[in-house]
Amino acid sequence: MSLSVSYDENNIFAKILRGEIPNSTVYEDEEVLCFMDLFPQAPGHCLIIPKKEKATNFLTATPETLTILMERSQKIARAVVKALKPDGFRIIQFNGTAAGQTVFHLHFHILPIYENHPLKPHGSKPADLDELSHLAQKIAAAIE
Ligand code: 5GP
Repeated sequence: MSLSVSYDENNIFAKILRGEIPNSTVYEDEEVLCFMDLFPQAPGHCLIIPKKEKATNFLTATPETLTILMERSQKIARAVVKALKPDGFRIIQFNGTAAGQTVFHLHFHILPIYENHPLKPHGSKPADLDELSHLAQKIAAAIE
């Protein structure tokens, strides 16, 4: 069952952390990496992941890692709001295939919501890489 799957060192986020796959980085420190979702549901959709702990989901993470992720998620969400001025935003986290999880390295989605701008389906179409890079820089510049 996907909730108890063991950590796969070759999952896409592990490859991103090892620098084997490029990403549009929004923020990085010793604990977390935040980068743009390649298949965004809305402009500014980004993901935040722990760098040290190999947790597959919310249940397998330590409270310390969750605390760090929440603190950094707030920091990035503030920057998303300041930079992109969405009407709202969601912090989302999926656990298990049945719940929509596709990458088994713990992550939180920061998803801006714009009125009159319907969300694209989860994991639909890859975004333009220049556009992702532009958005990443815009959010990064608003981080306090
Ligand atoms: P999950 O479905 O596990 O909650 O979220 C995984 C997310 O990773 C999805 O929103 C998907 O669009 C995103 N994603 C999948 N592959 C890649 C990739 O190669 N690069 C980036 N930046 N995002 C990816």
